[in-house]
Amino acid sequence: MDTKSKELFLKAKKYIPGGVNSPVRAFGAVGGWPRFIASAHKDRLVDVDGNEMIDYVCSWGPGILGHAHPRVIEKVQEACKDGLTFGAPTKKEVLLAELIAELVPSIEDSRLVSSGTEAVMSAIRVARGYTRRDKIIKFKGCYHGHSDGLLVKAGSGALTTSMPDSAGVPADYTKNTLVASYNDRASVKNLFEADPEEIAAVIVEPVAANMGVVLPEKGFLEFLREITKKYGALLIFDEVITGFRLALGGAQEYYGVRPDLTTLGKIVGGGMPIGAYGGKREIMEMVSPAGPVYQAGTLSGNPIATTAGIETLLILKEDPDIYRRLNQKAGEIALAVKEAAKDAVCLNQAGSLLSIFFTSHKVTDYESAADSDTASYGRYFNYLLDRGIYVAPSQFEAMFLSDAHTEEDIAFTCQMIRDFFNQ
Ligand SMILES: *Cc1c(COP(=O)(O)O)cnc(C)c1O
Repeated sequence: MDTKSKELFLKAKKYIPGGVNSPVRAFGAVGGWPRFIASAHKDRLVDVDGNEMIDYVCSWGPGILGHAHPRVIEKVQEACKDGLTFGAPTKKEVLLAELIAELVPSIEDSRLVSSGTEAVMSAIRVARGYTRRDKIIKFKGCYHGHSDGLLVKAGSGALTTSMPDSAGVPADYTKNTLVASYNDRASVKNLFEADPEEIAAVIVEPVAANMGVVLPEKGFLEFLREITKKYGALLIFDEVITGFRLALGGAQEYYGVRPDLTTLGKIVGGGMPIGAYGGKREIMEMVSPAGPVYQAGTLSGNPIATTAGIETLLILKEDPDIYRRLNQKAGEIALAVKEAAKDAVCLNQAGSLLSIFFTSHKVTDYESAADSDTASYGRYFNYLLDRGIYVAPSQFEAMFLSDAHTEEDIAFTCQMIRDFFNQ
């Protein structure tokens, strides 16, 4: 039964554009209407009709510990008693910055903001201020939030709705955004050769996870490290998804490549709105009031959000075995898919991030992802949803595992995936 969700969606559409506060939530890509969530604990969501679902969206990444982790909830409840926001420095901001510097290999100093979008927007500004150059290179299919200059060939919701470029973005705002192809070294090299002294930075998702999951080919990230260095540009890893997920130190630890600047979000807020960007002190000293690059925020470093973030990172730090468990669970699902679907799909996996592309060829970039059979994905999505399994309502989003997924729920999910492909 989903009558209450349906009613709420109809009402929502009267007051909210498309009925949702972020496009992919609307289920436009898979048909039907979204489930309105009433509560979530561990690996289960409960919707307003009382349906329980095993959750593989995990709020699009933050939920690495599962929902409502008792330690995080307790700390947040305690923190609330002392006030919700002060607009003045707090000890917790220092603790979180210290933790980030300890865990993320390339970060010495960092700034807290309130979303991944803001983190990326600010990091780009710093890169431009530091290099005194205007152009940046991004990759087709990589999503870096919804700031004007980055809504060019973006992934995520922009990909699903086949509107890679947004209305309302003046062409002047994107003229300094150059677009290369993921895993295609020549495309990057050509842009640098055409503009050797104008490019401030290359920004990349070290594992692309907003066109579905696309892994960097061997040597690709190392290549980006070398070519940016050669041309005096900065390398920015957008680790909003991969940070604290692929490893405690993110993709830069997992692949052993150090960017100049890193953007964080999702897990770093433990379920509350936070983004962060950071890097070497010399570069971060550009940021106001230490330097000339302006960036500010009324709720930046919010005491409740930092509380959730700190506790989440502490739990991950105390129990590094979490990553082995996550990878093992993801591996079980990957194996079930490969055995059941054989060559009918392409399965990409990096740690606890997975994608099942409904295509028979390898997916290595935007083009090879984009020609997937989205109608088949829709059938797969609805088959699982009918059986109490909630995966991303779009072919072009990742499947996320959490430490709260139980062996029984993984086994049940694998069985339902097998049943889908065998029917
Ligand atoms: C989610 C995401 C963002 C944007 O973060 P928001 O908090 O949604 O603004 C930026 N970059 C990547 C890689 C993301 O996955």
